[in-house]
Amino acid sequence: MVVNQPSAAGGRTPNWQNILWREWRHCGDKDYARRLYQAVYHGPLSWFRRIGLGKLPRPYAAEVEAALHQACMVRQGAREVWQWRLEQLNQTKEKAILSQKLITNLQDHHWLERFIARHALLDRGGEAVAPLQALALTDSSPLQQTALWLLQSIAADTTSRLAQAIDTLLCPRCLAHCQAHPTPLPWQPDLTFYGCRICRQSHFLQTRPDALVMVLDRGMTIEQVEQNGTLRVNWFQRRSLFDFNRIEIVQATDEDVERFAVQMGNDTDPFRKPRYRQMTCTIGPACRLSENTVRILETMFGRVELERVDS
Ligand SMILES: [Zn+2]
Repeated sequence: MVVNQPSAAGGRTPNWQNILWREWRHCGDKDYARRLYQAVYHGPLSWFRRIGLGKLPRPYAAEVEAALHQACMVRQGAREVWQWRLEQLNQTKEKAILSQKLITNLQDHHWLERFIARHALLDRGGEAVAPLQALALTDSSPLQQTALWLLQSIAADTTSRLAQAIDTLLCPRCLAHCQAHPTPLPWQPDLTFYGCRICRQSHFLQTRPDALVMVLDRGMTIEQVEQNGTLRVNWFQRRSLFDFNRIEIVQATDEDVERFAVQMGNDTDPFRKPRYRQMTCTIGPACRLSENTVRILETMFGRVELERVDS
């Protein structure tokens, strides 16, 4: 399984000082800016330098986080201020905190809670886009600029991590393909982020197997098994549809298949629905289905194959 973590914590960041100076200049959070100032090497900042920093844009959130990690590696003063706080951030990322709670924390009275909320939302990626978009669209919100910056940061982060491989990734939660999600914003260039086509998450994604098979098998006691590039998923365990590309009915009754057919017939998913007519449904030799049930399957799928026992 390939797990695509946000790129904030990895790799060397040779221009870390420049990034932290720019964040210090643009963040608009006085208490936080003071801790950034403590992380970098500094003499008195010249007016010339301040004007130069002001002209450069605010760095993306993942760049800031990577720069803070780099600062901790090379500078004692940065380590003292930031090491345990970055560890606290990592612990928060692992907790099951609702995105809405993190959004609330963006306005916490303590700067560290605000910092952690911003970077935990970055870590949520696509899942955090909808509530952030709502904030970005609210002119009266004091968080409008922060929300816009986080959306830009999520777009940049998921683009650099996922865009090139997006057609090869699978969301293990939905067993669904991944895709680009264009996100329109008024008065701003549209943003695109990448994630699961259904739940939109961009945190845990895996390489998509060559084939995803919907299996109806009362003898199969586990939900999923992957072998030789094929992921077989048991409908009796999962009970929900996913982005499969063929069906195998190994052991099921007419009633089972009819129930499955009703669920398929009610499926309105615009990605899956047109694919059913292209699919092959295989009925195993141990499965005795009535002619009527086989006919129902023939109306749903492109091809129905009855496997025979080899003599
Ligand atoms: Zn998903």
